Amino acid sequence: MQAHQQDKDMADKAILVTGGGSGIGRASALLLAQAGARVAVADQSLSAATETAMMIRDAGGDALALQADVSDEHSVMHMIDGTVSAFGRLDGAFNNAGIGAGRIGALPQNIAEMPMETWSRIIAVNLTGVWLCMKYELAQMQKQGHGGAIVNTASIAGLTGIPTASAYVASKHGVLGLTKTAALEYAAKHIRVNAVCPGYVETGMTEDLSAQRIAAIVDKVPMKRMGTPAEIAQLVLWLLSERASYMTGAGLTVDGGTTVG
Ligand code: NAD
Repeated sequence: MQAHQQDKDMADKAILVTGGGSGIGRASALLLAQAGARVAVADQSLSAATETAMMIRDAGGDALALQADVSDEHSVMHMIDGTVSAFGRLDGAFNNAGIGAGRIGALPQNIAEMPMETWSRIIAVNLTGVWLCMKYELAQMQKQGHGGAIVNTASIAGLTGIPTASAYVASKHGVLGLTKTAALEYAAKHIRVNAVCPGYVETGMTEDLSAQRIAAIVDKVPMKRMGTPAEIAQLVLWLLSERASYMTGAGLTVDGGTTVG
């Protein structure tokens, strides 16, 4: 995975990545650092965040590891404070931490059968978590007065329904609504807010799926394969960079053509 020469315009930017201990978050943290950013890697798992930060430092970059639960307001406040204490400011954020039912040991279930706890936890992390992160990131960027850029991780599940995934689908539709609203609220303050909508990507989230389910998914992807975290990271880097200077409020799919058929 290579950052192109023009990506060096991330030099010295202080960027926060949530869910940075694994999958799409880790790949994005590594690419942002390669493009010159100083990266605060936040994750519920401190050991996973630390591993990503060490990978960045081993490659000659600058990184900080933070433990944070994005569904908890105090934890989010602490995460932003920790980033600003270390780097002196916050120029950009990738709000990417998220879970599916498999990550909390819940079964795929239709609405009538889904336990309230499954709904509540997925909404708390995927939707309230993004709102809480933006709340404190936007306040910090506004205080600094130099603008900024935010990218949220939605999903193709933010664009269509998926049977047995009502909480996940509702959370990702919500992320797109939050992204559009934040973009409107902060456009005049030069803070851009966009979302990425990945299709199926090879990460911890999808390794929970059975081989049979993966084969059925891949069959529906026009490119006949899942995406890699590095392929999502390229879009995240671009949206956070000045090269996306006229982009705000967008939700961009990166899904091998899954949603265009
Ligand atoms: P992953 O499980 O590899 O990574 C998610 C990371 O988020 C993990 O390191 C986990 O510890 C962390 N995390 C979970 N809950 C957290 C919390 N409350 N606070 C802080 N960190 C927390 O999965 P991934 O596929 O890389 O997922 C990243 C994002 O991409 C998620 O928002 C997911 O919904 C989204 N997404 C994934 C796919 C896919 O196919 N993998 C597709 C579309 C969207």
